[in-house]
Amino acid sequence: ICGGTGCHATGAIRVKDALVAAIDEKGLGEKVQVIETGCNGFCAMGPILVVHPGDIFYQKLTVEDMPELVESHLVNGKPVERLLYKDPVSKAKIAVQTEIPFFAHQMPRALRNKGLIDPEVIDEYIGRDGYIGAAKALFDMTPGQIIEEMKTSGMRGRGGAGFPTGVKWDFASQSDGAVKYVLCNADEGDPGAFMDRSILEADPHAVLEGMIIAARAIDAHKGYIYARTEYPLAIKRLGIAIDQAKAYGLLGEHILGSDFSFDIEIYQGAGAFVCGEETALMRSIEGRRGMPRPRPPFPAHKGLWEKPTILNNVETLANVPQIMVNGGAWYASVGTESSKGTKVFALSGDVNNIGLVEVPMGTSLRTIIYDIGGGIPKKRKFKAVQLGGPSGGCVPEAYLDTPVDYEAIARVGAIMGSGGAIVMDEKTCMVDMARFFMEFIQDESCGKCTPCREGTRRQLQILEKICEGRGEPGDIDTLIELSQTIRETALCGLGQTGPNPVLSALRYFRDEFEAHIHEKR
Ligand code: SF4
Repeated sequence: ICGGTGCHATGAIRVKDALVAAIDEKGLGEKVQVIETGCNGFCAMGPILVVHPGDIFYQKLTVEDMPELVESHLVNGKPVERLLYKDPVSKAKIAVQTEIPFFAHQMPRALRNKGLIDPEVIDEYIGRDGYIGAAKALFDMTPGQIIEEMKTSGMRGRGGAGFPTGVKWDFASQSDGAVKYVLCNADEGDPGAFMDRSILEADPHAVLEGMIIAARAIDAHKGYIYARTEYPLAIKRLGIAIDQAKAYGLLGEHILGSDFSFDIEIYQGAGAFVCGEETALMRSIEGRRGMPRPRPPFPAHKGLWEKPTILNNVETLANVPQIMVNGGAWYASVGTESSKGTKVFALSGDVNNIGLVEVPMGTSLRTIIYDIGGGIPKKRKFKAVQLGGPSGGCVPEAYLDTPVDYEAIARVGAIMGSGGAIVMDEKTCMVDMARFFMEFIQDESCGKCTPCREGTRRQLQILEKICEGRGEPGDIDTLIELSQTIRETALCGLGQTGPNPVLSALRYFRDEFEAHIHEKR
């Protein structure tokens, strides 16, 4: 039964209790195991239950459904048809999970264990080849070979910037110093993004294993996971995973009897968006106010407490163990020329199948929104998809065939970002959308540098004015000029990319801005 935050919110715990009670009543307690997994991914259909063997997918369950489900499926071997997924196009019922279009187009790699293991039981992770990558990195490979494997994989950081992970590790490995750090950025803060939370909730050991391998590659002995405190379930499961890994000799002194030692601590951030920026995150761990600092020096040379440090995001690290197990070439066999592997998206907004999606790089946005996402509800028309959250941009209908690829998405004025994909239908006001993201950026600006602090405030004032019908003819030019200045002069990525939603909305929907101003006049 799915135990992700989304299903918890729709009553999965009550359904689980009713399921266990119904199983006990039928005397099946010895034969049937009920496992609360991490996020299944198909969040729109929660509470979700998948019966194995058979991979039979049940959706939108209630407490009252459980006696019938147990009697029919578990006692008599007959799935309950009314609780199965109904395809909105063919109207046919689909029983097998992997045959449902939402799942059929996906390729789970970072999410390979989602819905399949109890994230609070280390043995279940080990049973799915868990910690084999770490063992390989500790006993069969030199640090240099680990880094080469990562370079071969072509893996680029999934936090948004897309910097090659192997190259980042190489820089840190070459930095002098007896003390180095490995950090995991779990400070996911984009509106509409829940990729990292879901990975942590579903498969926390994959992230720990990725950190062990990274530590071995750069010779670090201490790691921190910086997780926002709004993620209580993810933090709880991470804490359990760390304790279990220590008990199994996978963290601490002499891991698995090797000469390598590494330990991990969780650091809870208070939820400031800017603390997702690497230098601000490091300051926050140091106990100081989370504010970015200029680079260079880059963290690979001078990071946490001025020591060489690598920071990778949750999705990046969750991919690392499988790269060690299967090899970099295996990872690179999927994707495009410059973007290898798969990418996880949190699909939300005006789309039928809200949920967590992992697709090969190169998959088109149209496939994600229509084939996996099931299209737009209420027979409305698609208008745009916002990629990359408040740092990204919107992609209109004309570019829906753009492949998921760092460069291709940038060419149409958006960014891959960490994977937030908010779909908007024809009813969406793009001026209001730009105002929403600018309000977010303005609110989250740390205030250190003037262009971001004052520039975003001025932009927000103008956007509010236009939304309220008080816009003036020069406002669009002022918005563009301010955007360019902020982009060029703000200190950190938050400010530099903050005007992106405004610029992309103006690029594709300028007529809406003009109509707002014109109608008022
Ligand atoms: Fe702070 Fe914004 Fe400047 Fe970044 S760009 S340092 S968030 S004021």
